[in-house]
Order: sequence, then structure tokens, then C-alpha cells
Amino acid sequence: TLGELAAGMAHELNQPLTALLANTQAVSRLLRDEPPDLALVQRAIDDAVQQARRAADVVGRLRRAVERPDARTIAQPMALELPLRSALHLLEPEFRRRQVLTQVESDGAPQVMADPVAVEQIVHNLLMNALHVLEQVPVDARRIRLWLGVEQGQGVLRVTDSGPGIAADVLPRLFQPFFSTRPGGMGLGLSLCETLATGMGGALTAANAEPRGAAFTLQLPLVMP
Ligand code: ADP
Repeated sequence: TLGELAAGMAHELNQPLTALLANTQAVSRLLRDEPPDLALVQRAIDDAVQQARRAADVVGRLRRAVERPDARTIAQPMALELPLRSALHLLEPEFRRRQVLTQVESDGAPQVMADPVAVEQIVHNLLMNALHVLEQVPVDARRIRLWLGVEQGQGVLRVTDSGPGIAADVLPRLFQPFFSTRPGGMGLGLSLCETLATGMGGALTAANAEPRGAAFTLQLPLVMP
């Protein structure tokens, strides 16, 4: 529905626009210094450009989804690691601020057929969700593990956190639109991620991890040799 689409768009655009605002405000502040630190200004502007591009990508993808509902995403051969690296890079300041340790492991370098923007959006959402739940955990126990590999003939990206995990009654409702247990949460992140994943011929599933935490598994079709 239009309402769901608008809410989804607001959700996806909020992050890059917030970062864009922070970067341009920083530039404005830096330029008032005598003399201004132009290297810092350059970095903030480069970041701002990246964020603006990300926001434009979101709008472009939603527009494509509306115009051609049968071609939601444009799949191309891609290394599954690339969108992962770029989402990690984008969130690096957040990880540092919240003292969350991240660890990337891979078993091979899976090449999948997927839309890089959509995959980055999924990874970004999963990492943000992990960051949110890790607020409930003492700082020295905040961990996010990322695993890349191949399982049952599919490219797999798994995000595992050391958070509280998912309650049994929550598990079946996780991917429903507007389901949220987070104060201020809209409950659209995971439902959007699942739609994107299935639109690419893949899947997104959730489970509890051992000894604690949640594990989200994104499966995508491998590029055929
Ligand atoms: P929102 O973050 O706005 O609540 P989501 O669709 O991203 O929307 O998430 C829906 C719900 O799924 C969350 O409110 C939370 O209950 C649960 N959830 C998501 N990620 C995790 C996680 N890593 N660990 C435990 N629960 C999670």
C-alpha cells in the first residue's frame, strides 16, 4: 500500500539523510576555523557525497519497484563481500561509539547474482538491529560476527550478535510489517529486508545463536560457473 511504501521510504532514507546533515554541519563548522583544516573538510564532504548517493539509490530503487513491480531489483554478478565491507565502513563510527567489536570470517569468496544496493541495505539493517539490541548488553560483551560462505549451493551471509536473542513468541512475527518490540521502532526494517531478499531469488531467516544472541542468515543465488 502507499502508506507502507511511504513509511518504508522514510525508514530507509532516515539514516543517510541524518549522516548527510551531520557531515555538512561539520563542514560548516570547520570552515569557520582560522585556518580551516581542509583535509578534514575534504573527508566530511566525501562522506556527504557517499550518503547523498546512498539516498538517491534508495529513491531510485523504490521508483523502479513502483514502475516495474516485476523487476524490483537489478541482479548482477557480484562478490558478496563488497556490500558487506561498504556497510561496515559506513557504520564504523557507530561501532566505535558503542564499543562493539566486529569480526568478519569467510569460507571462500562467494559470487552471487544480486543487486548490490539491495544487499547493502539488508546488511545495513541487520547491523543496525544488532547495534540496537547490544545496547542491552554490557560494553565488554558487545560482539557482532559476520560470516560469508556457501551452504547448500547458495551464497550465505550470516550476521550473529551477542545480544539477548529472540524470544520464542517473537520469532514467528519478526518479518511481519509493523511488528516491533523496540521503543520507537517502526517494525519495517526486517519486512523490507525479506522482501528485497526474496525479490532477488534469495531468502532471509532468523534463529537463535549458541550460547546467546540472534543469527540472521541471508541466502542468495550463486553465480553459475
Ligand atoms: P524495528 O527495528 O523498527 O523494531 P525490525 O523489522 O528491524 O523493526 O525488527 C523487528 C523486531 O525484530 C524488533 O523490534 C526486535 O524485536 C526483533 N529483532 C530484530 N533484530 C534483532 C536482533 N538482532 N536480536 C533480537 N531481536 C531482534
